[in-house]
Amino acid sequence: MSSNFHPDGTLFIVSGPSGAGKTTLINHAREALLPIGIELYFSVSHTTRKIRIGEAEGKSYYFVSNEAFEAMVQGGEFLEHAHVHAHEYGTSRTEVLGRLQDGQDVILDIDYQGAKQIANDPDLEPRSLNIFIFPPSLEILEQRLRQRGLNSEEEIQLRLRKAIDEIDEGKDFYDYIIINDNLDVATECLKAAIIAKKLQTKTALEAIHEMAERLKEEDRNGRNARRN
Ligand code: ADP
Ligand code: 5GP
Repeated sequence: MSSNFHPDGTLFIVSGPSGAGKTTLINHAREALLPIGIELYFSVSHTTRKIRIGEAEGKSYYFVSNEAFEAMVQGGEFLEHAHVHAHEYGTSRTEVLGRLQDGQDVILDIDYQGAKQIANDPDLEPRSLNIFIFPPSLEILEQRLRQRGLNSEEEIQLRLRKAIDEIDEGKDFYDYIIINDNLDVATECLKAAIIAKKLQTKTALEAIHEMAERLKEEDRNGRNARRN
């Protein structure tokens, strides 16, 4: 961790319609932030949806049955969970809380329902930043979903319908909204939001107060010395 940034574990929450580019932007930003000393742990969610080609258990998601997911809900193991695109998704407490306490920064790719649940948590809210990724247009969103080649026609239609709800629900809630039109520009915007949050916190304020006290003390000592 570079000394430029405060040492409090910070939670970065990235949401937005499926196909808007969250995974791509998170991967680019994580890689680009490493050399300046910001290392983001990507929180691996649990889901009841089927594993897709190219995905790995424990890397993309933990793939679990409906029964196992429900048992985790009943056991209070989730920080947040939601029904998204006809499946269950959740962020387990163990993925996030210990890491934040140890001063690690964590990034989540979750939908707006989950982001709002975390915003209601008085311990997590102050150390969280909510970022919403907008597609430049619905037409481009549809193109990206098709190009990605991961979803059936039915799934694409479901994602496009949900995109409208998400944009409507998300537009007033998020700290930052990034339009992912040009990928390089959007990556720079995501990096900037993360860097800004790592420069601004209670910890930084405490340090500034201490510095102000030191300066005042120096001033008092200087005046006393001149008087004597
Ligand atoms: P999400 O994680 O939000 O569902 P992805 O990161 O999987 O979205 O991106 C969806 C598709 O769009 C992928 O094929 C990705 O390569 C592509 N993509 C992402 N950002 C851009 C961009 N700025 N311009 C063009 N294509 C993009
Ligand atoms: P996909 O199945 O395409 O990977 O993801 C579908 C949607 O589920 C995305 O919008 C993603 O942000 C959301 N999602 C992934 N993990 C979680 C989670 O743990 N909680 C919530 N609330 N949403 C999630």
